[in-house]
Amino acid sequence: MKSTIAVIGAGRMGSALTRAILKAGFDTHVWNRSPEKCEPLAALGATVASSVEQAIAAAQVVIVNVSVYATANALLRPQDVTAALKGKLLVQLTSGAPNEARETASWATQHEIAYLDGAIMATPNFIGEPSGTIIYAGPRHLFEAHRDVFLALGGNAQHIGDDVGHASALDLSLLAQIWGALFGALQGIAVCRAEGIGLEVYAKFLDAFKPVVDGAVVDLIARAGAARYAGDEATLATIAVHYGAFHHLLEVCAERGLSRDVVDAFDAVFKRGIEAGHLQDDFAALVPCMR
Ligand code: NAP
Repeated sequence: MKSTIAVIGAGRMGSALTRAILKAGFDTHVWNRSPEKCEPLAALGATVASSVEQAIAAAQVVIVNVSVYATANALLRPQDVTAALKGKLLVQLTSGAPNEARETASWATQHEIAYLDGAIMATPNFIGEPSGTIIYAGPRHLFEAHRDVFLALGGNAQHIGDDVGHASALDLSLLAQIWGALFGALQGIAVCRAEGIGLEVYAKFLDAFKPVVDGAVVDLIARAGAARYAGDEATLATIAVHYGAFHHLLEVCAERGLSRDVVDAFDAVFKRGIEAGHLQDDFAALVPCMR
């Protein structure tokens, strides 16, 4: 028999999660601070609770998706709400840091609440879709016991380990990638604008350059895993070659009066590697410089 689900939080993401759960045929209870956001969900069949405690009382699985952990804590930790959670599965899908997940797991254990921590690697339009990715961390048996719920939220539901901090840690590792790409593009746009290159040209060549970038990242991760930092016959480019090209970017920034905020961060890491004697090593020799 399908579990009854409570969803706490009906913002953009909480509403998408609720819609996906409803679509999969789960009896669903929803609560949101601003009750009007629950109205479209009620029209789809959700039961709107008048309090967090009431939503939880009806459910076996409680999904929380609010802005930050501090908000989730304020909602879940009043004594009567905590008591209502006893014996249930709490699934935290609010974005946070590994230490927040671990602290919540410890609190949950103290109160006999089963706990999984998740990170949503998708925007609301991917929720409930076969390609929707949500990663979960915490005791595997809890994930296995409620796999149907997790698959309803996204077809690519993955349990990544028992360490409850790992969902948010992996989330942050992947977000680092998107910020790297976005800040890189900010710099690229600035150079194109300063040099009078059309952004459509930039976009076209970025597309052509993407396999090169993707290949370099894959190579970097493989080398980091094997601690293979010395320049060798398979090295794509040494730090000397990268830093030589990078210097020309610094020159354009100086000549055109562009911000150095992004490139200064790159420069600092390059310099640390070079000072440590890695000029002729693979770019991967910068890996230990990040500690
Ligand atoms: P959102 O639309 O701004 O919704 C925020 C939710 O938090 C609303 O339900 C809001 O209630 C609630 N909230 C905020 N402060 C509160 C308080 N003091 N007391 C009670 N409830 C409070 O944001 P969202 O996009 O749904 O994001 C929600 C979570 O999902 C965040 O942790 C976000 O990082 C994560 N996430 C979002 C995306 C995305 O693409 N949107 C992707 C991955 C992860 P009200 O409606 O009453 O304001």
